[in-house]
Amino acid sequence: MSSIFTKIIKGEIPSYKIAEDERFYAFLDINPNAKGHTLVIPKKEVDKLFDLDAETYVGLMQFAHKVAKALEKTIDCNRVGMTVVGLEVPHAHVHLIPINRVSDINFTSKKLAMQQEDFVKLAKEISRNFES
Ligand code: AMP
Repeated sequence: MSSIFTKIIKGEIPSYKIAEDERFYAFLDINPNAKGHTLVIPKKEVDKLFDLDAETYVGLMQFAHKVAKALEKTIDCNRVGMTVVGLEVPHAHVHLIPINRVSDINFTSKKLAMQQEDFVKLAKEISRNFES
């Protein structure tokens, strides 16, 4: 069975897309730790990040680098943090989170409540600042 992220890539499930190319896809996390919390995934479905082949792994980091730059341009933050968890969705991904304090990257902290229109607006803003 396809992962929920594969369904997002195929357009079977909606997402707040930031950017994509032939191999990678970036979209807003629907349960964000902080404003701009973004997931970056390979289109190839592999459960664990460190089981990716080296080329896909390096490509994912290069793509995440460009997404992080777009986040820095869009969101007023101290820096963009990066985390790997993967306990919920078995499809390799990195979390990019604009942070000001360590609690912003703590997954047990209270999540940020956002309305659908806020997600749509934010995804558009970040997307506009993405340089491929
Ligand atoms: P983890 O696998 O533990 O790294 O967490 C998976 C992340 O994916 C969580 O932060 C969820 O909020 C996020 N997530 C799950 N389903 C979706 C979805 N349909 N769209 C966007 N983010 C999602």
